[in-house]
Amino acid sequence: MVGACIFCRIIRGEIRSPIVQESEHVLVISDIAPKAPIHYLILPKKHIENMASITTADKDICWAMWDMAQRLSKDLPDQAFNVIVNNGAAAGQSVFHLHWHFIAGKNIYSSGFSL
Ligand code: 5GP
Ligand code: ZN
Repeated sequence: MVGACIFCRIIRGEIRSPIVQESEHVLVISDIAPKAPIHYLILPKKHIENMASITTADKDICWAMWDMAQRLSKDLPDQAFNVIVNNGAAAGQSVFHLHWHFIAGKNIYSSGFSL
């Protein structure tokens, strides 16, 4: 549902959201409910539902997302960050337009979560 998708509406400029960074394929916005001092959302401008929906036709977009994460990391004093992707409602995905949570300034393992 590209028309109703909240992130597509932000990308089209129909809903205002401060833009952190932008490239040909990618937009970076601040999360509306940040969970860390830096909590950005890295969005492909193309509507892709989630990570499971990516195809090889999207490989330039995927590289652009990594490139953007790297670019954002260069502004961090210690280059320490996490990229989190929730895929599917059962894994916590609530907006069905692919996005990476770019988290920095907080150790996400300090509050009980572990891998
Ligand atoms: P998910 O739960 O799908 O992995 O993450 C969706 C994220 O989008 C959440 O962290 C939520 O706070 C954020 N979000 C939802 N609606 C908006 C919005 O309208 N603007 C911005 N900037 N973030 C949003
Ligand atoms: Zn969308």
